[in-house]
Amino acid sequence: MKKTVQNFTDKRLLTVAVVTVITILLFLFAIFRDNSRTITTKQLDILVKKDLIRESMLKDGYLYVKTSKHIYKIPKQAVDIPRFASIYPLEYSKNYIYIFSILGIFSILILVIIYFIFFHKKHNEELIVLKNSANSISSSKSHETKEDNKIKPIISDITFKDVAGMKDTKVELQELVDFLKNPSKYTKIDIRLPKGVLLAGAPGVGKTHIAKAVAGEVGVPFFYQSGASIVEIYVGMGAKRVHELFEEARKNAPSVIFIDEIDAIGKARGSMGNDEREATLNQLLTEMDGFDSDSAVLVIAATNRVEILDEALLRPGRFDRRIHIPLPDREDRKEILQLYLQNKRHHADIEKLAIMTVGFSSAALSTLVNEAALHAMRDGRKEIFMTDFVSVIENIVSGKRKILNLSDEERQIQAVYQSGKALVATWVDIPYEMIGLSNTIFSDEERSIQSKSDYFNMMMVYLAGTASTEAIYSQRYSIASEDLKKAKELAFKMIEEYSMGESIFPDKKEAEDIMIKALEEVSAMLAKLESVRKNISNYLLVNENIRQEEARELLREIF
Ligand code: ADP
Repeated sequence: MKKTVQNFTDKRLLTVAVVTVITILLFLFAIFRDNSRTITTKQLDILVKKDLIRESMLKDGYLYVKTSKHIYKIPKQAVDIPRFASIYPLEYSKNYIYIFSILGIFSILILVIIYFIFFHKKHNEELIVLKNSANSISSSKSHETKEDNKIKPIISDITFKDVAGMKDTKVELQELVDFLKNPSKYTKIDIRLPKGVLLAGAPGVGKTHIAKAVAGEVGVPFFYQSGASIVEIYVGMGAKRVHELFEEARKNAPSVIFIDEIDAIGKARGSMGNDEREATLNQLLTEMDGFDSDSAVLVIAATNRVEILDEALLRPGRFDRRIHIPLPDREDRKEILQLYLQNKRHHADIEKLAIMTVGFSSAALSTLVNEAALHAMRDGRKEIFMTDFVSVIENIVSGKRKILNLSDEERQIQAVYQSGKALVATWVDIPYEMIGLSNTIFSDEERSIQSKSDYFNMMMVYLAGTASTEAIYSQRYSIASEDLKKAKELAFKMIEEYSMGESIFPDKKEAEDIMIKALEEVSAMLAKLESVRKNISNYLLVNENIRQEEARELLREIF
């Protein structure tokens, strides 16, 4: 800033100096310019006779005579100079014009030199400054794009032993770990493992954590990118970013790419398409198709909304392995709490805590332990007591995180609702991975051709919870809202899209009829199988989750 002001003053001073010198020169030129009029000998005689001559001078072959008003000149050969000089004394070569011309030229020369030295120097300095700053801008930019912005892997120091619970997920991922450790063992016998694994589960269940553990187990670089940041931060560059990500991962192979929140890129392409996201998604598909499964780059993506993903992402050769990560069950919660509490002095009953924290994710459990430790500290204690947990649990439950923490009565209602669902799904053979007190995970198998009875069975499963609570409590509960919504969507789809109603042309009333029919049927089914439903309900109250095989076992017991 200071420097700019200084430059400005220098420039103004110089301009003033230049203007002054030029004005003086013009002034001198005006004064000493040869503005004399040429006269004849006769006219000179008249001036002599009238004695009008005040001064006379010989210069440049002329005789100059000055009267009080004018200057005249006459070639000296035309005049008898000695005679003239005897009358008027001559001044010789008082050559002001000449002197001033020389002086003028000199000044101009000096000015030009000053200008060149001064301005040119400044200009160059400025150029250098500009160039330097441009360089520094571009270098900082290139620094940013080439260095800070460069996709860099991290070396994960987390391994499977740092992941509490999640047994099934670990087992599924172990095979991939083995493949990354020793790809040739598999490729030799022509076994190709999936390029992409999709981890589906609620926020905070440990999707990122376990992906890091995979990289840590193998000891390979871990490339983390979030889908949302790819399309939001790098506007217009999403596709390029994806390309760079895969390129770096390939260079560093074997390696693990982890794309968090892949739904931000991979939402199903609807009519309201977003060009940017679509270009990014296409690039991702191209990259995934473009590398061999032997190339030892494993792509792990995470989402909590599999249902909104573009189908193209789920096709073979892309994210064809899907792993659901449920909320931790009681055993998992015990392990997770043990892990978080292992370096803390406490008197917590972990078993009891695990029961109190139904519906907590790993992240929520971590917050709980932290908050309890803070609570103890505020109280001036170094040890955490059960009372600390009890004091903070309410805050965590009612906090922003939507965590399910059920009272005993709520657990009962939830168990009645979910047991009805598990029973009907098992009976009508709708595959599910697990039905728990707080979540339902259906299997992914989706056949391309579905019959009317397939849809009808699915609708019965969606309505089973409602039928179950109606039978036991003569009530409907808000927990049914999601399932009812899905049942309605399905009913409309059946009638309007697939013309599975009585008439070919859709009639909205038929959707309602079909739902009422399904509800009646499912109620009848539950009434017949009440004892099994009760067993499943009890199983859920103890274990929180039930798998289809386990439900089948309970069903077999009574037949
Ligand atoms: P997500 O990616 O599913 O949203 P994160 O992997 O980010 O969840 O996990 C949230 C927090 O919980 C992290 O601090 C992580 O270290 C911790 N965490 C998650 N799962 C586990 C686990 N199984 N064992 C130990 N810590 C876990």
